[in-house]
Amino acid sequence: MSSLRFQALQELAAAEERRISNYSGKKISAMFASNVFTGRAMREYLSDEAYKSLMSSVKSSSKIERKMADQIAAGMKAWSEERGVTHYTHWFQPLTGTTAEKHDSFFTIKSDGTAMELFDGDALIQQEPDASSFPNGGIRATFEARGYTAWDPSSPAFIMETGQGKTLCIPTIFIAYNGESLDYKAPLLKSIGALDKAAVDVCHYFDKNVNKVIATLGWEQEYFVVDETLANARPDLVMCGRTLVGHSPAKGQQLEDHYFGSIPERVFAFMQDFEQESYKLGIPLRTRHNEVAPGQFECAPIFEEVNIAVDHNSLLMDVMARVAKRHKLKVLLHEKPFAGVNGSGKHNNWSLATDTGVNLLSPGKTPRTNLMFLTFFVNTIKAVHDYADLMRAAIASANNDHRLGANEAPPAIISVYVGKYLTEVLNEIETRVKDKFSEQDEVILKLDIHKQIPELLMDNTDRNRTSPFAFTGNKFEFRAVGSTANCGSPMTVLNTIMTETLKGFKRDVDALIDKGEKKEIAIMHVLRDYIAQSKKIRFEGDNYSEAWAEEAKKRGLNNFKTTPEALDAFVTESAKKLFFNNNIYSPRELEARHEILMEDYVKKVQIEARILGYMATNHILPAAINYQNTLIQNVKGLKDLGLDEYTYKAQLNLVQVMSRHIQSINDNVEAMIEARKKANNEADMHKRADMYCNEVKTYFDNIRYHADKLELIVDDKQWPLPKYRELLFLR
Ligand code: ADP
Ligand code: MG
Repeated sequence: MSSLRFQALQELAAAEERRISNYSGKKISAMFASNVFTGRAMREYLSDEAYKSLMSSVKSSSKIERKMADQIAAGMKAWSEERGVTHYTHWFQPLTGTTAEKHDSFFTIKSDGTAMELFDGDALIQQEPDASSFPNGGIRATFEARGYTAWDPSSPAFIMETGQGKTLCIPTIFIAYNGESLDYKAPLLKSIGALDKAAVDVCHYFDKNVNKVIATLGWEQEYFVVDETLANARPDLVMCGRTLVGHSPAKGQQLEDHYFGSIPERVFAFMQDFEQESYKLGIPLRTRHNEVAPGQFECAPIFEEVNIAVDHNSLLMDVMARVAKRHKLKVLLHEKPFAGVNGSGKHNNWSLATDTGVNLLSPGKTPRTNLMFLTFFVNTIKAVHDYADLMRAAIASANNDHRLGANEAPPAIISVYVGKYLTEVLNEIETRVKDKFSEQDEVILKLDIHKQIPELLMDNTDRNRTSPFAFTGNKFEFRAVGSTANCGSPMTVLNTIMTETLKGFKRDVDALIDKGEKKEIAIMHVLRDYIAQSKKIRFEGDNYSEAWAEEAKKRGLNNFKTTPEALDAFVTESAKKLFFNNNIYSPRELEARHEILMEDYVKKVQIEARILGYMATNHILPAAINYQNTLIQNVKGLKDLGLDEYTYKAQLNLVQVMSRHIQSINDNVEAMIEARKKANNEADMHKRADMYCNEVKTYFDNIRYHADKLELIVDDKQWPLPKYRELLFLR
């Protein structure tokens, strides 16, 4: 029997038409949000009373009355049944990193035996999935496995189509019986509320009409697409989502011919198909293009309110994986599926918007609006400066470790890029606003800054693509987020540190005003101080360079290269205070989360270690030994013919070289297994994570090195695993 690799290659070569597309060719606006219980659907299916109650609860985040909930549930049921829905589910985002659902049918049998469909307020508002099988970081022992999902009315319900089946999905938070959060959404919602209040308070210095501030998020999702049959022939891709061995192809991304090149047709059909599914779900995708690496692509939506945007990104990742199967493709969302090839990230474009329609991070046209812009701009920089370690912790994962600092993605050092013009503006405020308050300050404010900022918008070339957190004209772009990440984690941290900073800012400004300073001057002075205090976080140069790592060290910026190190920022005294004071996490919740994330890290590395050991022993060594036997036969044959040593020198040499690689792989695999055993016996999760990080993982590169060398030696026909060139270039 030929190997799976060759079956896959044959299948791929034989498949003339793999561009199966369900693409309808409809205008996007005609299908957009057709599977979403939108405001319009609510208007149609809800009574005036229920509609108003729902709207007002969304606006003020207040509770919905029981009676109203029944009415809303009935409306949702009617709407979804007309669309062929039979089941509903509470849809949530547990800390496992995927989305979770437990389907129930509307169907029920009454006490008199009548069969009917029912969906009431109770079913809408709250459910009790078994929480014991979701990570809870010791918050509850498993015998008390009561976790609840609770409806989040601020994110609209939607219908998920899976093949012929249709399910009504209700976005929910996932909490323990005592209200402690077990997911990404619950803390995110809290951070949104806290930020709203703090930002509105500060807005009132400039505009009393502002009643609400929302955070906005536009994510850019990078991913790889490979042929599914080829991917299935690799245990590492199936089990870990990334390759653990594989020699880089002769042609990588050095020709740079892929970026913005034309999209291969088979992938294009897949894109059209998943975009169509996304549009129906109300995900406002707008951009698609090739990325830097071969086989790598990106899509991005129009930005939305952050809670909705996070839900939409989670949904998109599900939809992509599902639709890819139809096309016999596999989407790799992993941060680093291929060594030596660019990894994938998920830029989080973040800004703040008022209910008066102002983007607070967009430079204004008048001195007054510019001062408002500067206020939010400088406060963001200060927030990142003060809590850089939390930003790093928010994006820490076993996957992202392969990217951060690996000389292609932003490094693990958090810094802020603002561009040439704003650097000048900040420097000017810092140097020209003197300690003594004077009318001169106002002149600076009115004339100079006003003149300078609009130029920034003209100049789009002023961009630094190496920065982990860059200002890009009217938003900050958090680029260090991993491609598989739930955006809820970085967004919760960003919202929270911004909240804390804005609260401090208000206190500082008010203190000066109380002393009799004019409001604008007080603001300028506090901004001046913040600019000076947070200077070390600003970096405009090449973040990938060695020089920056050294410079950052001198500045006292942290460079946490691994997840176990980075995650500790969540449980420092200052982090506990920050999250507790803003009502996001209790110290206990933080501890629990920290443990869950450590455990997740351990599990990921553990699975990789197992698969790597298995592949080395069961795929690579047998292939190598087989080929070595062929060589030995050959050498023997040549000797038997009585030929001189020269005729079999090369073969003999290869036999010896292969033996050394085989031996090294064998030794490293054995040592890795021992290290794993030792780590598994360690009860303390943090210590265990450290052991996986600093001991178990150190064998990966060694094993890989020798395996990749063997790949170059062994007869191509006998190599069992699809090679990089096949995965990256064939489709
Ligand atoms: P790129 O960064 O690749 O040049 P764009 O600047 O066009 O791309 O935008 C990238 C993402 O930023 C998009 O998803 C877009 O919706 C989002 N974006 C634009 N403005 C805002 C904003 N005010 N708040 C949040 N996201 C935004
Ligand atoms: Mg971008």
